[in-house]
Amino acid sequence: MSAPDLAQLRRHLHRLAEPSGAETATAAWVAETLRVWAPSRLLTGLGGHGVAAVFGAPDAAPGPTVVLRAELDALPIPETIDLGHASRTAGCAHKCGHDGHMAILLGVARELAARPPGRGRVVLLFQPAEETGEGAARVAADPRFRALEPAWLFALHNLPGYPRGTVLVRAGAFCAGSAGLTVRLVGATSHAAYPEQGRSPDRAMADLVTGLACLPIPFERHNELCLVTVVHARLGSPRFGTTPGDAEVAATLRAADGGVLERLKQEAAALAGRLARTHGLDCTLAWSEEFPVTWNDPQAAALVTDAAKAAGLTVDAPDESPFRWSEDFGVLAALGRGAMFGLGAGRQQPALHAERYDFPDALLEPGVAVMAALAHRALAAG
Ligand SMILES: [Zn+2]
Repeated sequence: MSAPDLAQLRRHLHRLAEPSGAETATAAWVAETLRVWAPSRLLTGLGGHGVAAVFGAPDAAPGPTVVLRAELDALPIPETIDLGHASRTAGCAHKCGHDGHMAILLGVARELAARPPGRGRVVLLFQPAEETGEGAARVAADPRFRALEPAWLFALHNLPGYPRGTVLVRAGAFCAGSAGLTVRLVGATSHAAYPEQGRSPDRAMADLVTGLACLPIPFERHNELCLVTVVHARLGSPRFGTTPGDAEVAATLRAADGGVLERLKQEAAALAGRLARTHGLDCTLAWSEEFPVTWNDPQAAALVTDAAKAAGLTVDAPDESPFRWSEDFGVLAALGRGAMFGLGAGRQQPALHAERYDFPDALLEPGVAVMAALAHRALAAG
């Protein structure tokens, strides 16, 4: 299959866009398309709608297992730009380029069918629910995936703002870890003329918003990424005769180091508890969208550099170290020696998650070249 066909595959995947955890049609279409290249095994329903195509020797045969990962899910962002291949799903579109990542792995399937692994096996994993941080953990917990005993694991992400086709990689932390925290404070309402008869969470909420923003200060001295962003706050309701009886504050916590993130979580929880006690309120905490730090193994990162050079691509270090955004690939990388890398999508390309974004088809073949070279190098490394 030649280059224009990969673009057609990408555009078809773009039309199918489905939200995290509901990638039914996308997964079915990917599995069906993979059969064209006759993998030795095809696994479906991995950790939800995950699909994995195995190329090479049977599981028990000697040689390492190399996993290359793409993501199945799109974002809850409507398609507002005029595209011939516009998303057919209302309110949902591929604005993170996962359609391109999938098309790249389909191109790798084409390469592996033409040049099968001499020893070991290559697993092309199409992972569900990346955007919510749930998919990688579910795939990692699936016994059928663990039975593959991954030795090497790699993933790429297209990166707007960097020269098109440049490979961005570094050893160590590549993406920050993050956690979403929702604090609910409950007191008691009263007539607004008698606020002293109620227990309003107003001051606790105000102190919580400012206190959360100050939590990273002690860590900043160590020059490490550490960030708390308040994303939502609500107090009572706009009824003028009643004092508020409850409040909710939500924030995202981020750090470059797993230990720092853990301490940040503990301190955020302690702050909320302390403020609730001071103001006589009940307090509940809920954690969601938790992503571990994506940590690149030095040897795996070196293989990415070698593969990129072999594919004729320029290699550079990312501007941000690590990136402030999070990725659940860190969960999979921890199963063996793993690395994630960026593939520059073009300096003028709209940002990820922007409504104007569409994956550039010119990136497909460079992506295939680096991923295929990486698979063969990792197999040879043992
Ligand atoms: Zn993404």
